[in-house]
Amino acid sequence: MQTSSDPDVQECGRYDSLLRLVRHPLGAAAALLVDLHGRLLGFDGLPRETAQSLATLISLHAAEAPLRCNAGNLHPLASVALQAIDGSCLGWLSLFDYQPRTLDAAGQSTLQDAVRVARALLDRPEERRLALAITGSGTGVWDRHVPSGRIHYSPGWKALLGYADNEIGNRIEDAYTRVHPDDLDYVRKTISDHFEGRTTAYEVEHRLRHKGGHYIWVCSRGRVIERDDAGCPLRMIGTTTDITALRGVSEQLRQNVELLTDLTNEIPGMVFQFRRLPDGTGTFPYVSVGVLDIYGVTAEEIRNDSAALLQLIHPDDKAAFVASLEASASTLRPWRHEFRMQLPGRGVLWRQGNAQPKRLSDGSVIWHGFITDITERKRIEAELQVLATTDFLTQLPNRRHFMQLIEAELARVQRSVERSAAILMCDLDHFKAINDRWGHAVGDEALRHFTGILGHAIRRIDFAGRMGGEEFAVVLSDADVASAVSFARRLQQKLAELPLLQGCERIPLSISIGIATLDATDSSVEAALSRSDSALYRAKQNGRNRIECY
Ligand code: GH3
Ligand code: MG
Ligand code: MG
Repeated sequence: MQTSSDPDVQECGRYDSLLRLVRHPLGAAAALLVDLHGRLLGFDGLPRETAQSLATLISLHAAEAPLRCNAGNLHPLASVALQAIDGSCLGWLSLFDYQPRTLDAAGQSTLQDAVRVARALLDRPEERRLALAITGSGTGVWDRHVPSGRIHYSPGWKALLGYADNEIGNRIEDAYTRVHPDDLDYVRKTISDHFEGRTTAYEVEHRLRHKGGHYIWVCSRGRVIERDDAGCPLRMIGTTTDITALRGVSEQLRQNVELLTDLTNEIPGMVFQFRRLPDGTGTFPYVSVGVLDIYGVTAEEIRNDSAALLQLIHPDDKAAFVASLEASASTLRPWRHEFRMQLPGRGVLWRQGNAQPKRLSDGSVIWHGFITDITERKRIEAELQVLATTDFLTQLPNRRHFMQLIEAELARVQRSVERSAAILMCDLDHFKAINDRWGHAVGDEALRHFTGILGHAIRRIDFAGRMGGEEFAVVLSDADVASAVSFARRLQQKLAELPLLQGCERIPLSISIGIATLDATDSSVEAALSRSDSALYRAKQNGRNRIECY
């Protein structure tokens, strides 16, 4: 026997002795061992070329019994299919003689012994275990001989489509008739891409017709494992897995995601999942389409890096924004924060964020929540705030708001001994007479006239309020009594110089003013206000249009 580096030749030599052992006692002229694809595994008693052509005939006419092939002067004596433990066919052991004859019982028994040995040699346990494992996983195996168009399916493969082992043909053309018509072009294209070397492996998901007539979804994977010298594919093996259930689950999943996306996209504002990694960087694994309205960017722009968003937050709100997120991350309490954004071409807009944090095993914190546009609410709130704190007629702070301002002023005065403030209580003289003489509307006009003058007289650090009727209070910050007196004089003077005219009649307007200081020793603002009230009372008592100090 010749030795060779060609594994096929080595493989062949390995079976030759077995064939010699079986041929002699049976008096057969020739013995052959052929694999599923018609490849010659071993031969004895005839030249290689004759053995090769017989091997092809055997594999082509395998299903026919008795074996019909004649080659030259050889007649078939016996041919036995070698079955693997999983029932699949491994190949054939065939005997030939010069005369047509049959084997007697002893001959049959010898042949069966040889078959058992050949089967054990061919059916390698590791391969069988692998095949069994593959079958057990709901996957079928196929083995395709490309030039002949023959394809061998494992019993598991056939079972996927509901067929018994002997129910399915081994022609590739038949295989294509089972592929769903809509998938056929795609499957053929994927195969030819692989045959022509454009892909390293073949993988395709498509539908196959089940014996019952319905279609199942499968994933086919394979690879050409043998090519000829010109690179043309000779043999390709692969697996087919039923993924119908998986497709069902993934379809359900797809529908759920679609529903979720549709829902979140309908919610005003933006729904998000924000993840802050341990290194401090932030990503948005999910944001609804509202991100364009809320942040003026697309989901893709911020998916992997949220840093740009921080630049859009109003400079005055940035620190508080970062701190609020920080607090939520460390306490894992819900994040709820109102902040302003400055969006190019859109000005300042108010946003409110609500989200629930969760810590992940890698140390990241992930928030699920939403951000809404509260610009309109903030505008209304600001309007309400003005309405609640401003006197409608004069637009000065109302009594309640003035009291808040003076409380804050007292606190300020109390913080430093050098600081003091002066309170001026002002009351229009004989105002009732103005109403009586010119009517209430003119009285209103007179009140506005006075507050106009007052507004021009006070500095930015001072403030005034309408305490009720025709009575006003003024607080001069950082002022002592002397400077308060000179301010009061200027105010009286201005009121005298700028008369309110009714037609060509001049409406006589004057004020009485009582002055007191707001001291660090004051336990309450009421005490200081009551001192300025006493001084005002004295100013009225002493003839009006006067200034009195407490
Ligand atoms: P005195 O010099 O002592 O302060 O006399 P007076 O008339 O100014 O004081 P009095 O308290 O007798 O009258 C105040 C009047 O101010 C009575 C009230 O009708 C009028 N008044 C109060 N609020 C308004 C207002 O909003 N508009 C108008 N037109 N009059 C008002
Ligand atoms: Mg008055
Ligand atoms: Mg009064």
